[in-house]
Amino acid sequence: MRQVIIIGSGPAGYTAAIYAARANLEPLVIASSVEVGGELMNTTEVENFPGFPEAIMGPDLMTRMQEQAERFGAEVLYQDVVSLDLDGDVKSVTLGNGEVHQAYSVIYATGSAYRKLGVPGEERLSGRGVSWCATCDGFFFRERTIAVVGGGDSAMEEATFLTKFASKVYIIHRKDTLRASKIMQERAFANEKIEFIWNSEVADILGDEAVTGVVLRSTTDGTTRELPLDGLFVAIGNDPRTHLVHDKLELTAEGTIWVDGRTSRTSVPGVFAAGDVIDPTYRQAVTAAASGTVAALDVEHYLAGRGEAALPESDVAQIDGLPDAATVGA
Ligand code: NDP
Repeated sequence: MRQVIIIGSGPAGYTAAIYAARANLEPLVIASSVEVGGELMNTTEVENFPGFPEAIMGPDLMTRMQEQAERFGAEVLYQDVVSLDLDGDVKSVTLGNGEVHQAYSVIYATGSAYRKLGVPGEERLSGRGVSWCATCDGFFFRERTIAVVGGGDSAMEEATFLTKFASKVYIIHRKDTLRASKIMQERAFANEKIEFIWNSEVADILGDEAVTGVVLRSTTDGTTRELPLDGLFVAIGNDPRTHLVHDKLELTAEGTIWVDGRTSRTSVPGVFAAGDVIDPTYRQAVTAAASGTVAALDVEHYLAGRGEAALPESDVAQIDGLPDAATVGA
């Protein structure tokens, strides 16, 4: 029996693991079989994580977080969770390999999944020119003409990165203004290989074996035209990954897991949530990490309250001295 099982291995999951491990809770981290490290594994340079003035590559940052958690005793399993039983005092987590792990508390930090366009050709040509990951697939588009869909930071970052390989990168955006931060916008505007196609959406993705182009539809007058392309990168945001808990935990209108105020407490006692899966707004590596901290502190409080936590006296005293969880800031 564990004190806490953490599901997810992004900044929220690993930061929760660091705090829980340092509190002697010996957390088990279910890191997933293919998406270990979460979204930052698909990112290039992270320039806004405090402490790295020269930037750090996303995968390096996640490897360091994992090492830090393991150094204090977190155990990491490269498995997927297939089902959860969250009722009652003891929670059960069933993995893809059939193992069942039990704990008195669970931190759910599964992040979010890439949003899809939902247009014809997208599924069929996925991996054949349609991609959600520039760092994974950019290399295949050397001297090719490609497009990125989206107007946020992800689209700007992907498009800028892809100019290292492609000869031409279009950014297709449905409006005439960007949602991306000023610095990312300016970087894209200044890049000679990038051309913006405003007020347009992808209506169809063309190609039999591989992408040959897209049909663009004007969002102002509805007219369509074809744009020849060798590849299409979709960067239109993410949706919280709640499929394992949508019928077990209360969700918000935005589809994120409901938590009680500034705490990580979900609608089920002993179940806590952190990171992008509770956050429809900020969704930064730093805010996810902070959210993981809140979850670990809430778990300590919860376990101490139910008298099960095998904590040294000094830690218990510290927990007792915590302000009410609702006032613990991120
Ligand atoms: P965002 O939600 O910020 O942006 C999504 C973009 O895609 C918007 O421009 C939106 O258009 C567009 N879009 C959404 N759905 C569709 C659709 N069906 N068809 C066409 N376009 C669509 O997502 P991001 O992934 O860009 O960013 C998520 C978060 O991660 C943000 O907080 C961002 O700041 C952060 N981030 C930070 C980075 C950094 O600082 N280095 C790098 C990457 C992400 P519209 O504008 O019309 O709504």
